[in-house]
Amino acid sequence: MTSLLLMSDNINWLSELKAHLPNIFIQHYPEITKANEIEFALVWNPKKGVLAKLPNLKVIFSIGAGVDHILRDESIPKEIPIIRMSDPFQYKMVAEYALLTVLYVHRNIETISKNNNKKVWTEQTAAYTPEYTVGVLGLGNIGSVIVDKMQSIGFSVLGWSRSKKNLDGVETFSGFRELETMLPRCDYLICALPLTQETKGIINKASLSLMKKDSTLINIGRGEHIEEEALLSYIDKVPLKKVFLDVFPKEPLEKSHSFWNHPKIFVTPHMAGEVLPKSAVFAVKKGIDRFQNGEPLENIYDRKKGY
Ligand code: NDP
Repeated sequence: MTSLLLMSDNINWLSELKAHLPNIFIQHYPEITKANEIEFALVWNPKKGVLAKLPNLKVIFSIGAGVDHILRDESIPKEIPIIRMSDPFQYKMVAEYALLTVLYVHRNIETISKNNNKKVWTEQTAAYTPEYTVGVLGLGNIGSVIVDKMQSIGFSVLGWSRSKKNLDGVETFSGFRELETMLPRCDYLICALPLTQETKGIINKASLSLMKKDSTLINIGRGEHIEEEALLSYIDKVPLKKVFLDVFPKEPLEKSHSFWNHPKIFVTPHMAGEVLPKSAVFAVKKGIDRFQNGEPLENIYDRKKGY
């Protein structure tokens, strides 16, 4: 019988996989009983060397839109396709997070919260939203939902991607030169990029120094998108108003890390978009069905592009 190897601590996957893939035997790592039968693997941060030892592995499904957690294991044969998780519910969650962080600043919640503690009532002057610009780096599955969300609130939206996009009501940019013209215009800059050789360290001295005074940076891509030293030195030089960081090169973020204590930095524990088995199981099922029916797989990680 065809097997799927689950490598995840989230045991909710087990019941969902069993319910939706009744013809597939689920083996839950580390208990591999029939290695020869494993054709599919559904993994988060797989233990190095395990996947390479499965003789009949055909497809790897990533429990995450990013696949960097899989690529760390260089022993995995390059010809085995890796499928990036494509779960519309997760995209919505990430867009909600983006909206939450933007509105936190836009509606001055930090001040209101401090005032609450002191029982102070201070009338607020509302900002006229269309005069504020949200810039989104990455216009893929997630970036495009963020764009929609921001437009629905009335923000002016700019978007940056590798290939030029044509999106209704969005001024789009591509390539690093055009990024330089986009950055100074953003009141809110949201990084929703995948981690690649090109995007690593994209938030660096040069890009930070182009950012608008009093703007807000939100990183939901990967921690490595940010050059930490540059951020810490430019946060007050630009100056930035607020920085929300959801992802870090090393998670959990160490207690000694200076991000925790910085008054302008709001750390969240990689929570922007969780992959919930309840909804993501359908993406896995679709991928397996397509493979078994001989149809082309979707959302394959492209090794040349790096995402
Ligand atoms: P997609 O592959 O669908 O989209 C990636 C986007 O980034 C595309 O628009 C692509 O351009 C653009 N891009 C890639 N390289 C470059 C480049 N060099 N210059 C400019 N643009 C570039 O990915 P997703 O939207 O599904 O996910 C994006 C990332 O979000 C994930 O890789 C992951 O790191 C992160 N993520 C974080 C979560 C969290 O909880 N914090 C949850 C889920 C995802 P083009 O359109 O031209 O190809």
